[in-house]
Amino acid sequence: KKKHFVQQKVEVFRGSDPVLSVLMWGVNHSINDLSQVPVPVMLLPDDFKASTKIKVCNHLFNKENLPGQFKFKEYCPQVFRNLRERFGIDDADYQVNPRRVHVQTRFLQPTGLLAKEQTNPGFSFSRFACFCVRFALSSRLSGRLLGRLIASLTACADKRPAADSEHMTSQVELTRPSVRQQVSLARSPPLKDGEGQSVGLLLTSYDHTLVVKEISSEEVEEMHNILCEYHQHIATCHGSTLLPHFLAMYRVTVESEDTYLLAMRNMFSRRLHVHRKYDLKGSLVSREASFKEKVKELPTYKDTDFRNKMQKVYVSGEEKSKVMEKLNRDIDFLVRMRIMDYSLLLGIHDAERAEREAEDEMEPFTEEEEEEEENGAAGSLRAPGPGEVDPHVDVYAVQSAVGAPQREVYFMGLIDVLTQYDTKKKAAHAARAVKHGGGGEISAVPPEQYAKRFLEFVAKIFA
Ligand code: AMP
Ligand code: AMP
Repeated sequence: KKKHFVQQKVEVFRGSDPVLSVLMWGVNHSINDLSQVPVPVMLLPDDFKASTKIKVCNHLFNKENLPGQFKFKEYCPQVFRNLRERFGIDDADYQVNPRRVHVQTRFLQPTGLLAKEQTNPGFSFSRFACFCVRFALSSRLSGRLLGRLIASLTACADKRPAADSEHMTSQVELTRPSVRQQVSLARSPPLKDGEGQSVGLLLTSYDHTLVVKEISSEEVEEMHNILCEYHQHIATCHGSTLLPHFLAMYRVTVESEDTYLLAMRNMFSRRLHVHRKYDLKGSLVSREASFKEKVKELPTYKDTDFRNKMQKVYVSGEEKSKVMEKLNRDIDFLVRMRIMDYSLLLGIHDAERAEREAEDEMEPFTEEEEEEEENGAAGSLRAPGPGEVDPHVDVYAVQSAVGAPQREVYFMGLIDVLTQYDTKKKAAHAARAVKHGGGGEISAVPPEQYAKRFLEFVAKIFA
């Protein structure tokens, strides 16, 4: 049944860049709407069940940009607005950031879809070009200008040879002077296939601060189950957490197909490139990146790869305690929610490599950009240098300790926290216990055991 679901989803995305345009339309619509609604003195139980829905039927109107008919649903708008505020994400920023309009799109080839994509190299690119243009600019541009922009991006995609489809970069200068914006997105898979490998959409916003992930309806349900406690947890720890920063949840319906999308803060940096990435669960059973994964530009390595490479996280004792303190609190929460199967996402920025790469590909800045850099985009007095982090922006980042063998920045956060044991794991656990005799290193174990093994593992990743 599950396999069928995954295939169906892939099909949906194949035929539907409209999902993305409706998402962009919907985000703007909902933020505008919400700005008319007063912020409540406190959240009430009903806010955790609330939703807004809108159905749009256009007749010959704006048809270059949007499907004629679509629906958009936002879950628990007041709760997520409150969470965005707690996480310091301004709704105006969340909506669109008009500061830069130099459009740069970069499409990273997803796996799984590779074969089909190659037969039609322009397809995914033009689809994503449309998406980034809308995401970045949405209502700020006239329809005509937007249309022209999309047309030129599409045309440029069509001229690309197939071999180039894995990594395309396109730049379009807009005629409007002094408004420049960066758009970037990566696509990588969410919904799990048989091996727990994800297959779906992961989009990164133009400024790298947000990601939008496609989730299943079960995950939407699970979010509703935990949202009240999650909100409480965030309030208690003042946003100091390794859990995902959930910012909004939507349903987009185009041609009677529902797509569920979850907006979160990007755990990686908008400035520092991640050179190596791990998804760690503390289990060694089937926890090695496949060959197909390893040949990607930024593969997701797993526990076995971590051990084989003798990878370590070189942070000070003080930083380690801070991380473990947050982790203990977060894992307590997850155990209470009977959640398991989550991973530690670990991204590693190699500062020395970044410096070498920066020298190789120095792009001349315009005066305006330099000025912006100097002013500090996040309002800090001085933009951080290479290998330095701005803790207000890169909230999941930890720098390597002084004198560490590697000068690195680590990004650490918990991902995939919407799988509840009771709903999904009981059957799998019974089946595996029979097969493996219920040993310790099996991945389907109840939440307490999962948490214990996970914490023990994470404590050992530090040098
Ligand atoms: P829908 O919004 O009807 O497409 O629902 C998607 C999934 O989320 C379904 O599995 C619902 O059971 C669940 N869900 C939607 N709204 C709520 C709610 N207010 N409380 C609990 N679960 C919900
Ligand atoms: P998941 O399906 O949640 O395991 O996520 C699949 C992949 O998406 C992970 O391996 C990460 O690389 C990426 N990812 C998921 N959530 C985030 C996030 N909040 N920030 C950055 N990357 C993420």
